Amino acid sequence: MADYVIPPPEPKEIDEQNWLQLRDLSERAVLRAHPFEGREQCDNCLYFLNPEADISYCWHPQLRILVGSQWWCQWWEAIPDE
Ligand code: SF4
Repeated sequence: MADYVIPPPEPKEIDEQNWLQLRDLSERAVLRAHPFEGREQCDNCLYFLNPEADISYCWHPQLRILVGSQWWCQWWEAIPDE
């Protein structure tokens, strides 16, 4: 038992499935990890749930994932004036 070596962590089948699913989603959304034209980004988008956070939930019906405040996708939409 003393010779037992803990194997290094490695991705499981579920990780592969999640990766394929999320990769497809990010490609359809044209999701980018940086602002578009220096002004459109998640934290000034209608669908970003908490504009004060660095990471928050995007509630766009095509996404529904966590995104970074500086990210952007093709479904960006301005927050309407009150
Ligand atoms: S719709 Fe796109 S730009 Fe808007 S919060 Fe979601 S990922 Fe960001």
